[in-house]
Amino acid sequence: MKYSELAIITLRQSPNIARTIGQAFLMRAGYINRDNSLTPLGSITVENLKMLAANSETSFLQGLGLEIYQDHEETFSISSLGDVELIFCPSCRYGDRAEQATFNKMDPDEESKLPLEEVSTPGCSTIDSLAEYLHIPGSKTSKAMMFVKVGSDQFVFVVIRGDMQLSESKLKKALGDFRLATPEEIQKAGAQPGYASPIGLNNVTVWVDDLIPKSYNLVAGANKPGFHYRNSNYSRDYAAERILDLSKAECGYPCIRCGQPLKSGNALLMATRKSIELGNLLFVLADIYHDDKGLCLPRKLSPFDAYLMHLPSKELDTKAITESLYREFVARDIPVLFDDRDERAGVKFNDADLIGSPLRITVGDRNLKNGMVELKPRITNQTHLVDIEKLGDTRSRDSFWDWINRITG
Ligand SMILES: [Zn+2]
Repeated sequence: MKYSELAIITLRQSPNIARTIGQAFLMRAGYINRDNSLTPLGSITVENLKMLAANSETSFLQGLGLEIYQDHEETFSISSLGDVELIFCPSCRYGDRAEQATFNKMDPDEESKLPLEEVSTPGCSTIDSLAEYLHIPGSKTSKAMMFVKVGSDQFVFVVIRGDMQLSESKLKKALGDFRLATPEEIQKAGAQPGYASPIGLNNVTVWVDDLIPKSYNLVAGANKPGFHYRNSNYSRDYAAERILDLSKAECGYPCIRCGQPLKSGNALLMATRKSIELGNLLFVLADIYHDDKGLCLPRKLSPFDAYLMHLPSKELDTKAITESLYREFVARDIPVLFDDRDERAGVKFNDADLIGSPLRITVGDRNLKNGMVELKPRITNQTHLVDIEKLGDTRSRDSFWDWINRITG
């Protein structure tokens, strides 16, 4: 492709709207517009990635050197551009949306079940106030929450441990759409708002988090204003229709797979089972593959193998000579970007670095008088002179690169 056909516009400075260094370089190098939409150059790059992904035998993302996290359905990469709140494990690369993430609920120490005992807890209608009043940790309390399934009026009594937070997303997955029960509905079920538990209630649907049956002697509501029970024990004091995971994973909890502490952060969705999010992938690649001058995508990911440019000259028609070189590359199916502008050398060198093709080929009159052109790999500062005739000698793309690699080391 020619630079003029792609109408590339590069920027000297990082736009202040860019939130990551990769995003800043994609804007500066003319791959994306200020609204993150793809330019023609960006579209070619994404199409190229799409083709690579389609032809990849092994997992495409795994081979790209990305730091990725996976559950069974989705793959993510950490990025401050991302709008997904991810819970992830740096040790084993487990990662899932925070609302759905699972974690290792360590079995609490076994204790003998003590007798149920009513205790006065005035003004303790929250777990924090209750734990402080009784001088116990939140993990020795249980928390009751009452919901009504939308469209069916089914009343569900949910119990999770006091030190856990309910994952509304996990509840919704199991129950469907729901709303909070009103104080009237709670009282109608026989419970007391602020002091509720399933103990002593009949004809109520109870669901408990799977940590509840493993926990001993929990403080629970006594269904009486200002009173709780000490030493409530699941199965002895109440039973549930369902035992399921309803707790929200938090930063620091042990990983479900390896037990190491989980972390949280913003992430971009990289892939689902069906497709790769190529636009998001471009941002993550730009975050990884750049230096202080611009992008430097590896050859297999770069839309162009080389940045071909002429230095405008009054003595020789460097542009026409470069144009014929360009046609030879096109004929050999080697993708190159021909900077056909009559700009100063400095401007073109800067843009070559920004756009970041793996190889820069420069046709200038000083070297051309000796029949030579200059090669420079994007990621080194070394230049190499080669015979212009030989540049057109090699046949296929692979043999061209074998030759280039021999010259540039
Ligand atoms: Zn892990």
